[in-house]
Amino acid sequence: MPCPRCGVVSWRVHGRYARRLADAPFGGVPAVTELVVRRFKCLNPQCPALTFAEQVEGLTSPHGRYTPRLSALLTSIAACLAGCRVRGSQPALSIRVAKDKPLDLLRRLPELPQASVRVLGVDDYLSRSVESGGGRFAWS
Ligand SMILES: [Zn+2]
Repeated sequence: MPCPRCGVVSWRVHGRYARRLADAPFGGVPAVTELVVRRFKCLNPQCPALTFAEQVEGLTSPHGRYTPRLSALLTSIAACLAGCRVRGSQPALSIRVAKDKPLDLLRRLPELPQASVRVLGVDDYLSRSVESGGGRFAWS
């Protein structure tokens, strides 16, 4: 196992410890991935790292507490909440839906306020007209 700081390969196991990584929920149930990893002693006397932990490619990262699957899921949710579109976010959710389905579900929410324009400025009118393709707006 190469030391992440100096690159010198070490075979000297310093110890083992259990890691618990929060994983994506399965069937609505929170999931945890547990694994035992080794801690190696760096064989380079000039290296500032005395020991270093084994990383499982594609699963663990130094000090990481989430699996890549859960991190991708949380990233997708955070991007949605922020109103951003992230490339590759759909595979992270692993959900295939029609393109109008999320908006349809949002409209069914009873707590979603009905959009009505009360005050409309010139800039708002222009930007909304461009967004909607020049459609008409009703305001009270
Ligand atoms: Zn080292």
